[in-house]
Amino acid sequence: MSEAIEVINPYTGTCVGKVPRGGAAEVDAAVRRAKETMPAMRNMPLHRRAAILKKTSQLLQERAEAFAQLITQESGKTIRETRAEVARAAAIFEYAAEEARRLHGETLPFDAFPNGENHIGFYLREPVGIVGAITPWNVPLALAAHKIAPALASGNCVVLKPAEQTPLNALRLAQALREAGLPEGALEVVTGYGEEAGDALVTHPDVGFLSFTGSREVGIGLPARAGYKRVALELGGNSPIIVTQSADIERAAEAIVRGGYAVAGQLCISVQRILVHRTVREVLLEKLIARIRQLRLGDPLDEATDVGVLISKEACDRVEKAVQEAVQAGAKAAIGGKRIGPAAFEPTLLTDVRQDMPIAINEAFAPLTLLIEFDTLDEAIAMANATPYGLNAGIYTRDIEEALSAANAIVAGSVMINEVPTFRSDLMPYGGRKQSGLGREGVRFAMEEMTETKVVCIQRLI
Ligand code: NAP
Repeated sequence: MSEAIEVINPYTGTCVGKVPRGGAAEVDAAVRRAKETMPAMRNMPLHRRAAILKKTSQLLQERAEAFAQLITQESGKTIRETRAEVARAAAIFEYAAEEARRLHGETLPFDAFPNGENHIGFYLREPVGIVGAITPWNVPLALAAHKIAPALASGNCVVLKPAEQTPLNALRLAQALREAGLPEGALEVVTGYGEEAGDALVTHPDVGFLSFTGSREVGIGLPARAGYKRVALELGGNSPIIVTQSADIERAAEAIVRGGYAVAGQLCISVQRILVHRTVREVLLEKLIARIRQLRLGDPLDEATDVGVLISKEACDRVEKAVQEAVQAGAKAAIGGKRIGPAAFEPTLLTDVRQDMPIAINEAFAPLTLLIEFDTLDEAIAMANATPYGLNAGIYTRDIEEALSAANAIVAGSVMINEVPTFRSDLMPYGGRKQSGLGREGVRFAMEEMTETKVVCIQRLI
């Protein structure tokens, strides 16, 4: 395919650049080049892999401002957010360089069973071969790093299909990796649309492991399309935060606003549902409104801006409709509630929301939080679990029993105590339960998924 895709700045509506519209033929060619490079990657000594990853981290740090400016223009995220994202991507590569040195199996005590007498042996960790990586636009560089860095650290080749909205930073990252010494073909980037290039990667028989981050709607159908290959899915969320009677309300309010409106609420672990004990509802609500009122909306490239724009006019249409429907069903906008530009929506807090409303069940992916009251912790936990999602959840409480009950009973990949669900460390096992995903990222955990174990067993001839 020779057609080009225009990359549009969602804040200005102007074209930031153009990329090729790759399809099945381009994916096939990329997989072929990766296949030819597989022996070189597999046989590359660990210290050499580590050196390439470390050098890439350094190049990202040296070029941080240029990367940040580019991602802001592609995505509409604020410049402070994209600077933090580039720093995070650099740290992921550095961490992967360290983990590359720790890639090993272990010895096996075969003689623990009678049939293993006189046998000694061990298992090794071998690369799966080719990792097919598909990434979303909302954290484009750091999430590409979460796939590429562990894949290369464990000796794989990668074919990456970045989101159509944010392909330029992926191409620049590939350039940095090449400059850091990565062999030609070890990382191939195919730009294009999900239904074309993305589907070709999902279905390609030579891809050994598919690592997808994106929406539940797309992700859920991929294992059936992928055929006989390993699949990891990092999908959407609808994160709850429980605020109990004993909580530090001031700290909870600060954290909720930080976690609810960062990246204009377009994070898979954005705070969406605030489940508050009825007795502390008024005091929390007052503090939330005061803090949300202080958020500055505006030009994402302006240092002073707290909340940028949504990724597109269509995304804004969707939020506007969801809020209107919720208001018709009885919800009230305590603050915000209106569209203020083609792709801009006011930071909004809805009260009088019931857990059975669609807005509380679906992923909002917008600068929108919902306040829902509860009377007992059991009720709060039941509401926390009452969506198809199970990514991150949180609880603010000073009562250890409440904290442990929530940690035990909430079905999620992570439960944060006195921290928002939006917290993520790049070294923790990260991923979802229920329809929020399959498998775990976080460099070491991704490396486990991107390698096969092979047993070597020796019988002593005595
Ligand atoms: P998306 O529409 O699902 O797209 C994600 C990626 O999949 C894009 O590269 C997209 O390509 C591609 N794609 C679309 N249709 C495809 C198909 N049929 N086959 C193969 N690939 C296909 O998601 P998004 O709007 O970019 O991202 C937002 C979503 O990602 C939210 O739901 C968010 O919660 C989730 N997310 C999850 C995590 C996590 O770690 N759990 C992290 C970040 C985001 P095109 O761009 O060309 O459509």
